[in-house]
Amino acid sequence: MQQKLERLLPQVQKPARYTGGEWNSVTKDWDSVDVHMAFAFPDVYEVGMSFLGLQIIYNLVNQRQDALMERTFAPWVDMEELMRKHDIPLFTLESRRPVKDFDILGFTLQYEMTFTNILNMLNLSGLPLKSSDRDESMPLVIAGGPCAFNPEPIADFFDLVVLGEGEEVINEMLDAYKDARAANLTRQQLLLKLAKIEGVYVPSLYEVEYLESGKIKSVTPKQPDVPAKINKRLMRDVDNAPFPNQPIVPNIGAIHDRVMLEVQRGCTRGCRFCQAGVLYRPVREKTPETLMKQAEEIIKSTGHDEISLTSLSTADYSKVGPLITGLLDQHSGKGVNVSLPSLRVDAFSIDLAKEVQKVRRSTLTFAPEAGTQRLRDVINKGVTEEDLIKAVSAAFESGWHAIKLYFMIGLPTETYEDLDGIADMAKAVVKAGLEKGVSRGRLKVTVSTSSFVPKSHTAFQFEPQDTLEELKNKQQYLKSKLKDRFVSFNYHDSSTSFLEAALARGDRRLCAVVSRAYELGCRFDGWSECFKYDLWLKAFADVGLDPKWYAYQRYDYEDVLPWDHLNAGVSKRYLSLEHKRAIKEQPTIDCRGGKCPGCGLCPSMDIEPLVLGGNDDGQV
Ligand code: SF4
Repeated sequence: MQQKLERLLPQVQKPARYTGGEWNSVTKDWDSVDVHMAFAFPDVYEVGMSFLGLQIIYNLVNQRQDALMERTFAPWVDMEELMRKHDIPLFTLESRRPVKDFDILGFTLQYEMTFTNILNMLNLSGLPLKSSDRDESMPLVIAGGPCAFNPEPIADFFDLVVLGEGEEVINEMLDAYKDARAANLTRQQLLLKLAKIEGVYVPSLYEVEYLESGKIKSVTPKQPDVPAKINKRLMRDVDNAPFPNQPIVPNIGAIHDRVMLEVQRGCTRGCRFCQAGVLYRPVREKTPETLMKQAEEIIKSTGHDEISLTSLSTADYSKVGPLITGLLDQHSGKGVNVSLPSLRVDAFSIDLAKEVQKVRRSTLTFAPEAGTQRLRDVINKGVTEEDLIKAVSAAFESGWHAIKLYFMIGLPTETYEDLDGIADMAKAVVKAGLEKGVSRGRLKVTVSTSSFVPKSHTAFQFEPQDTLEELKNKQQYLKSKLKDRFVSFNYHDSSTSFLEAALARGDRRLCAVVSRAYELGCRFDGWSECFKYDLWLKAFADVGLDPKWYAYQRYDYEDVLPWDHLNAGVSKRYLSLEHKRAIKEQPTIDCRGGKCPGCGLCPSMDIEPLVLGGNDDGQV
């Protein structure tokens, strides 16, 4: 294989995607460990290497004496073609071994539009797609990540799925796997054993029954000792959680080729469309002391010159001010920058941005999400137009001249007045820029919209998506309203969002659709140049299902939802209440300040939010 690869790599785009050997990558002696695990990222190398979760799990497994982890990524279409032509199976970057030789093959499910890539990777590995067709000699195929909270549309392809934070459960799973192998358990016995670990879902051990309406009647365990509900796992002590202080330095420009310093888990804002806000609850902040130490270790071990403070909402981290000051004091003399991936819509954020972007005056992005206060109350986005105008005015005063505003269209209850609100907001930002003296030649406001996709485990899980026609009309309407020399408008393709909605709220019957779409040639569906909408429609038609039924379904609170047996900790009762509040345009408080609106997670999982609080302007 080595020689074949050497010959083929010069023929593909970006050969470094497949070479491995990066700084800090780990290649262990195969025979010195008991368990061999491959981490599979169902997208290209550059996307996968920007995913912090990969670095965390890679570090954790490779720290064990008895296990190793290697990586594999989805080969781009040119490489796939050559691999098939020359009979090269999917291989790992570290040892260039076929993935099929490993004991466990673990996928991360970050986005629904990677599902066909998973099937392609299984097929390239020489493995049957369906778990029921795999035998004792084959790796256990597992998955984790946000889409694991509704894995039903791909349930047939996985032996098991892990709910929640992988670093909390991976060691238990590897121990159980090792014991099972030592005890010569069959694959079925092993799955039964693993199903008893909290957070582990073995889809084949559950029976799904349907009503005549097509909705779900029940999802029940096939055996008495398998849990009826699977609870997510979460880290209780994030400050002392395992951390990759020697992360792999990517060979080629990863999307985030920088130190990723995770300042907290979770977000308390409670935006009603946001799935991550539910899946990663409760908020748990790390101490600045730990973060300073981790930043220092990573800079030493990687040579990166930028520290990105990551989390769902970094500006909410209660020690963000002192942390930035401390990091800049310690590292800016060595040419190391600090960056913030997301800002709040307030002046405090501008102070932070000024602090970290001393040299560059790049575009600042804000996400008001909706154009009117009414709709922002519906989605529980606690920002006002006044907040936004104050923030952008402060930004213009401080030297920025380009602002990007991010909105969602098709949100529940949206009307054309809300779209007018988006246009009005863009105009108000332009006005603020001109008033603050930004030159007419440089002032630029970009309005970027995506289409709302109802996701499982959110207050809007019950809501239908707007029809494709409605979404397209809304995009055209906005386009006509945003004709302004200072404003540019871009929007995401709504047919991708439509399929994403069908898959995100789908059930087990969709496995046949995903499989058919793969057979028809769908790959890299999240990449506009590869997305083949017609083939997806054909796949649905071929198996006799309608994507509209899934994307446009309005669920009742009492309906059994395909993911109801998978518990993210926030109760369905609370999600229903939140949905009712949304329709009444009532906001819900943020639990960061100590007041709890009662989502049910903390009592049911015996945990509390960990917010450091205090001043955020002190010194570390
Ligand atoms: S139970 Fe209360 S404090 Fe805990 S995450 Fe939910 S809303 Fe926040």
